Amino acid sequence: MTETVEELRSRAAAWLATNRQHAPRDYGAICPPDLVNEGVAWQRLIYNNGFAGLHWPTEHGGQGLTPAHHGAWVEECAKAGVPPVLNMVGLVLAGGAVMTFGTDELKQQHLRSTLSAEHVWCQLFSEPGAGSDLGSLSTRADRDGDRFIINGQKVWCSGGRCSNWGILMARTDFNAKKHEGISFFLIPMDLPGIDVRPLKQMTGESEFDEVFFTDVELPAEYLIGPLNGGWGVGMAVLTNERGHIGASVIGLERRLESMASLGRGVGLLPSQRQELAALLSKGTAYKAMALTQGPVASTASSLMKLGITEMMFGVAMLRGDISGANAMLDGPDAVGMMSAPGGRIAGGTSQVQRNIIGERLLGLPREPK
Ligand SMILES: Cc1cc2nc3c(=O)[nH]c(=O)nc-3n(C[C@H](O)[C@H](O)[C@H](O)COP(=O)(O)OP(=O)(O)OC[C@H]3O[C@@H](n4cnc5c(N)ncnc54)[C@H](O)[C@@H]3O)c2cc1C
Repeated sequence: MTETVEELRSRAAAWLATNRQHAPRDYGAICPPDLVNEGVAWQRLIYNNGFAGLHWPTEHGGQGLTPAHHGAWVEECAKAGVPPVLNMVGLVLAGGAVMTFGTDELKQQHLRSTLSAEHVWCQLFSEPGAGSDLGSLSTRADRDGDRFIINGQKVWCSGGRCSNWGILMARTDFNAKKHEGISFFLIPMDLPGIDVRPLKQMTGESEFDEVFFTDVELPAEYLIGPLNGGWGVGMAVLTNERGHIGASVIGLERRLESMASLGRGVGLLPSQRQELAALLSKGTAYKAMALTQGPVASTASSLMKLGITEMMFGVAMLRGDISGANAMLDGPDAVGMMSAPGGRIAGGTSQVQRNIIGERLLGLPREPK
């Protein structure tokens, strides 16, 4: 008999209660470089105990259950305050691309080893001249017999130096319309000609890397999906990125509790109290909206992404304001203010989310191309 979602939920909650002390702190979608060893060990523990890839086929290391089972696991992890997976790039983006578009050989090579954290993935999409407008990317992949020769530069690659595999979007036809000349590849990060250089952020940390490709020889078998059809592959896997609404409600509840405690024990100025009340009201409205959404990914997730990251930006600024002049110099409030803008940029900027909401939800005219 197949385990029901509720049975799985109870088993996961019981396992997490005794194993959560082995988990790194809950870092969100992508494991930061300083936690990668802990994150890999945690993913292996999850895999060895049968909670990794619950919705993936058993022949590829999964448990052959449904996305609803996986959703319950993600929610239980959110309740326990632990990451549900080493990183979203591996399980959702690389795993989704290989599962949907990969050959049998690529599935054999990558799926089980992604679940067991032997393959740790990074995302090589953004470039200095292509971020929101990813279709403008210019890193090139030129076919040469049974290989592609890669030249160009990627940027903002989270955890690039801690990854042994990457998913890469590169241009394979410079004469086609911009979205029609792109292909999607898997790439081993240790190939000769790949140079990974950490970028220092204003927080002092280095979570991202620039990645330079000089005459990198990539075997043609690592092309995923059709030649020049990489845009479709990329968009299909990025859409998978959304849809953990249930877990985001739990995360949001935690944030609202922590926000409410901002006012306790400190004498807030009237203006700060008003600001806090406004942020809490918005957060409560987002929670209500998420609860009516159900677990299905939709354009409305742009509303959640926009709303929550803008709210968290406001909270970081309010914390700094409450802490006073010292917060400008050092400590967690200063770091919070400096890292908050990143949330409004990663995974589609706030402006881009507003465009999506305007065009697809409100039915406004499309922006001029
Ligand atoms: C924390 C974090 C992690 C990331 N991790 C990765 C990663 O692992 N791999 C990867 O490939 N990339 C990653 N990125 C990069 C991210 O995808 C890009 O930063 C993002 O897509 C924006 O692109 P950009 O930085 O080039 O800015 P641009 O696209 O140049 O935007 C500049 C400004 O113009 C605005 N703008 C752009 N287009 C429009 C428009 N049509 N309408 C209105 N305003 C517009 C933007 O909102 C922004 O304010 C990460 C970014 C962050 C912050």
